[in-house]
Amino acid sequence: MIEAMDISITKTKRSKLEDLDLENIPFGKYFTDHMLEADYRNGEWTNVEIKPYQSLLLEPSLSALHYGQAIFEGMKAYKDQQGNAFIFRPRENFHRFNLSAARMNMPEIPEEIFIEGLRQLIDLDKEWIPSKQNHSLYIRPLMIATDTALGVKPSDNYKFLVMLSPTGPYYAEPMKIAVEEKYTRAAPGGVGYAKNAGNYGGSMLAATEAKQTGYDQVLWTDAFEHKWLQEVGMMNVFFILNGTVVTPTEDGCILAGVTRSSAITLLKEMGLPVEERRINIDEILDAYKLGTLEEIFGTGTAATIALIQELKYKDYIMEFDTDKWKTAPLLRNWITDIREGRREDKYGWMWKV
Ligand SMILES: *Cc1c(COP(=O)(O)O)cnc(C)c1O
Repeated sequence: MIEAMDISITKTKRSKLEDLDLENIPFGKYFTDHMLEADYRNGEWTNVEIKPYQSLLLEPSLSALHYGQAIFEGMKAYKDQQGNAFIFRPRENFHRFNLSAARMNMPEIPEEIFIEGLRQLIDLDKEWIPSKQNHSLYIRPLMIATDTALGVKPSDNYKFLVMLSPTGPYYAEPMKIAVEEKYTRAAPGGVGYAKNAGNYGGSMLAATEAKQTGYDQVLWTDAFEHKWLQEVGMMNVFFILNGTVVTPTEDGCILAGVTRSSAITLLKEMGLPVEERRINIDEILDAYKLGTLEEIFGTGTAATIALIQELKYKDYIMEFDTDKWKTAPLLRNWITDIREGRREDKYGWMWKV
């Protein structure tokens, strides 16, 4: 058991905060003064420390770089109007991190390191949490295999890291999405439910090809028929069909998003029926033609709720006037207001640092 006091802290001599304009920052480009680091050796986690954000010294033979035992998480910290720091549902991310670790044959991280480490790191860098509306501090935990040998086997050594990145509002236009019919992201028995690095490396070509034809991202489909809908980029997907919200079920081929689960709770609070089930693209296309496909949106930590204004399937283009939508924009306001302390936190989602 690692106690809070076992985390050694080395503070930076000079904060980089004064060099930065927190009003105007692109996502994930700037990092705070400190990071958390821990090493897994001889079957246990040791050397838990918080220290100035810095480079790692790595050997070219580093196992993670060759064989891909690398997992990550993403969550956000906010400040309320009184200046208190909160993290949105960090225990969900902690549990998912260990699910990803188990699937990638990596050691689990104890709660004392993940949660307590996060608390101390954020407490130290809390001046970096932007207090403006729609701004937050993005938290990126990472675990990589650190054996330095070329044999293909699960690594004996690992490194756990947490970095923090202040982030501004996500002003994106409503998205244009193409239904993917050639490439596959996840199949039953695979690693689709894990937040492991390879899932993103494997998805980039599809996204690049979609961009070449004017689309922002692809909507992944099942490996066999390319008809059963999965998710989009780093977002889960929701459809509103004739007043009922539907979203693909957690079948091991989608990432179980914390925003997805929060959205389901809030949509139910709005009084909407929500179904988690298999969804076929033909059902969506038929609903569009009948005029019963009301809204499509994505959910994820980075974008929160992203409206989808265009969905392309084969040669068929489904277009929407998102200005007329009611539910997705309301959902976005509710989540943002809970996170920023303007709406009651009924479900205990905001974890005080
Ligand atoms: C992270 C991620 C999501 C969204 O998860 P949140 O917990 O809501 O941020 C959805 N899909 C994929 C593939 C992801 O990596």
